[in-house]
Amino acid sequence: MNIQTSIDLFQKANRLIPGGVNSPVRAFKSVGGTPIFMQKAKGAYLYDEDGNSYVDYINSWGPMILGHANELVIDAVNKAAQNSFSFGAPTRAEVDIAELINEISPNIEMMRFVNSGTEACMSALRVARGFTQRNKFIKFAGCYHGHADAFLVEAGSGMATFDIKDGGGITPGVKADTLVAEYNNIESVAKLFEKYPNEIAALIIEPVAGNMGCIPPKPEFLAQVKALCVQYNTVLIFDEVMSGFRLTIGGVQALYGVTADLVTYGKIIGGGLPVGAFGGKKEIMQCIAPLGKVYQAGTLSGNPLAVAAGFATLKHLKENPNVYSNIENTTTTLCTELKHIFTEKGIPTCINQVGSMMSVHFTEKEVTNFADASQCDMELFKQYFHHLLNNGVYLPPSAYESWFIGNAISPVEIEKTLTATKTFLNK
Ligand code: PLP
Repeated sequence: MNIQTSIDLFQKANRLIPGGVNSPVRAFKSVGGTPIFMQKAKGAYLYDEDGNSYVDYINSWGPMILGHANELVIDAVNKAAQNSFSFGAPTRAEVDIAELINEISPNIEMMRFVNSGTEACMSALRVARGFTQRNKFIKFAGCYHGHADAFLVEAGSGMATFDIKDGGGITPGVKADTLVAEYNNIESVAKLFEKYPNEIAALIIEPVAGNMGCIPPKPEFLAQVKALCVQYNTVLIFDEVMSGFRLTIGGVQALYGVTADLVTYGKIIGGGLPVGAFGGKKEIMQCIAPLGKVYQAGTLSGNPLAVAAGFATLKHLKENPNVYSNIENTTTTLCTELKHIFTEKGIPTCINQVGSMMSVHFTEKEVTNFADASQCDMELFKQYFHHLLNNGVYLPPSAYESWFIGNAISPVEIEKTLTATKTFLNK
């Protein structure tokens, strides 16, 4: 496969941009090789600068549920663009999307729109601190909530990929306020509450984890976490940046029947454009300026183009629940067939799936937390990744990332993926 243009661009990018990329996982560092520079995407396929095409299992890290460059979303963005790109003043579209989200998830009584998942999580934590007048919070090893200082303690995603345990730039004070528990281990959560019964403002969790590969919560785990938060008057924050509107229209809250006090959203509610939002109980959200004293603001927040793309995507998903059954069925087929192929060749795998999120962990053990995910065969993943890439199938370039299946993936793309897997194993 000719990727010369990507090689040239990467060389140039390395001179101008740290690591040649604007987000670390894109650099292919953990799998090696040259990152592929994309030119365009349509439906299920990415097209690179050299004209190669790839079946896309990254899905822009989740939001392209309807497939790339979906006409419905393009029309909505085009229409909004005619009326200018930003006003710095409120718009009807912001009220419409807030109303839609409230209809879908009634416990999101009030919400604030921001520009990224990072901002959403960072702001939700600040509000929880303002509301409770406490400083500490609990997060889980291997979960990722964006790159705000407070979350970069034992984080997943790129920090796990690059094995950055103690990133620079995070002050000891921030670390002291960040308490880390083990995913799917309720005892580890209870211990922290027992140690700091009156100091924990919030507990933030990816209710289905996607940043240490896909890891589902054990039955009852979310309900147990919620019970502890209620007992200790701690704000429960579900980070649904990946899972919201993807696993079901109501996200994990609807899928597992456990609601949070605050929920954060990201990329999906912008249909792939830069958006985030956080929302939940009115009594907590009313702490935010200008109603309350917790300050949070943004020049481009609620940007009309992003909100238009998000509204079109969410409305379509709400009106077409068959999208969810379709992407889940496609994912189940892929997981089942891959399991079969690897097992036949004697390669142990733990293939986790929740709805249209999945990942292949090369291990004999069940993968239920970050420690399990870290013990998988990364070298084998690396080889598998490159073989598939060379055969026109683009997996996330890290074993710590979830695969996302979009509605444009058809049996043709699944077959292509399975064939590439077979040729990998027959090499
Ligand atoms: N929360 C979760 C669960 C995420 O997966 C991510 C990013 O992938 C974020 C927060 C941060 O979102 P963003 O990259 O938009 O800042």
